[in-house]
Amino acid sequence: VQAEILMIGTELLLGQIADTNATYIAKALAENGINLYQKTTVGDNRERINRALRDALERSDVVLVSGGLGPTEDDITRDCVAEVIGKSLEYREELYAQLSARFAKVRRPLTDNNKKQAYAPEGSTSIENPNGTAPGLIAEDERGVVICMPGVPRELYAMLDDSVVPFIREKYGIEGLLHSRVLKVCGIGESRVDDAMGDLILSQKNPTVGVLASPEFVRIRITARAASVEEAEALIEPVDAVVRERLPGLVMGVDDATLEGVVAKQLAERGWTVAVRDSFTGGLIAQRLAAKGDSVFRGGVVASSTESVRADLVRDQFGATCGLGVSIQDGEVALEFVTPAETTSWRVPYGKNDALQRLRTAVICLEHIRRHLAGITEASQDAKA
Ligand code: ATP
Ligand code: MG
Repeated sequence: VQAEILMIGTELLLGQIADTNATYIAKALAENGINLYQKTTVGDNRERINRALRDALERSDVVLVSGGLGPTEDDITRDCVAEVIGKSLEYREELYAQLSARFAKVRRPLTDNNKKQAYAPEGSTSIENPNGTAPGLIAEDERGVVICMPGVPRELYAMLDDSVVPFIREKYGIEGLLHSRVLKVCGIGESRVDDAMGDLILSQKNPTVGVLASPEFVRIRITARAASVEEAEALIEPVDAVVRERLPGLVMGVDDATLEGVVAKQLAERGWTVAVRDSFTGGLIAQRLAAKGDSVFRGGVVASSTESVRADLVRDQFGATCGLGVSIQDGEVALEFVTPAETTSWRVPYGKNDALQRLRTAVICLEHIRRHLAGITEASQDAKA
């Protein structure tokens, strides 16, 4: 089955909002093995919406539309769909009842323009919107199916996941699914990961392996096509093992794992706490550790960059078990980490003191602590890369 996305909204063309709905829809389609052929964006303009709808129906089986279902003058998606499939809009008592109930619940008066949302093209199916007022809509003719969802992201996400994707899967008898696991690696470059992964990326068919870098992590995504999530996990498992074998100790975590989350867990397992004195990242490290709660984080000082740092002093100041010091020395970021067992220190060269470098330094500090506490000594060298 071939699908298209049609985004409606002048705001999108003006660059006033980022098109996160399209990203969300595209991801859901990929995960369900539905081929996305084209994505189109048009403004709130009847003629252009009509043309885009006709073109999309010409090419594809399913057209997923976002936006323009609301009560205002420029919300014309409903009218356009009716026109393109050659049906008129009909008033639906049950939609009006849903609307009234919704407005009563949020204690707002139902204004005249809201009544627009009680109309739908003849023969179409309405999709209930538990998170808002605008119902979704499924309209078909011999060319294909048009599915309209509200533009408000929260409403669209729920409608897509709970109603639209199940509808498409059922209608086109889609049985398999795509399922991914993301292994996260910090403190080494994408090229180093690519080097280690290169042949896997090329040779693996199911699951496939892909590498994606950000300032925070290199993500190694393993994606399997299977009949169920369990089956996909079973296909992913051996490839996961190969990746870990090739990057010993470097996989920080999977999927939603965060560096501070992993470090906090390592500290908590030992019953340790930490304090931070930081004259480089402007408090980024403390901010992240603080989010893990006071059972792990005891306090922090954000100081000017000229000060050299003794990790034991900040540890004592806050009565923590461990201390981390970050400062600038000889044009390098100097890090010191003290635990009840030992003190380690290391240097990281830096270019300029900008937001990216501060983020990278925060990541490298936390990654050093993670590796240190995991007993990975050799690989720690790579944290400098
Ligand atoms: P409403 O009932 O709120 O009018 P609607 O279906 O008419 O809903 P729009 O008016 O197009 O949808 O968009 C409502 C809001 O949702 C926009 O102001 C915008 O903040 C957000 N939005 C719309 N389209 C997108 C998109 N493609 N990606 C992310 N956010 C979006
Ligand atoms: Mg609107």
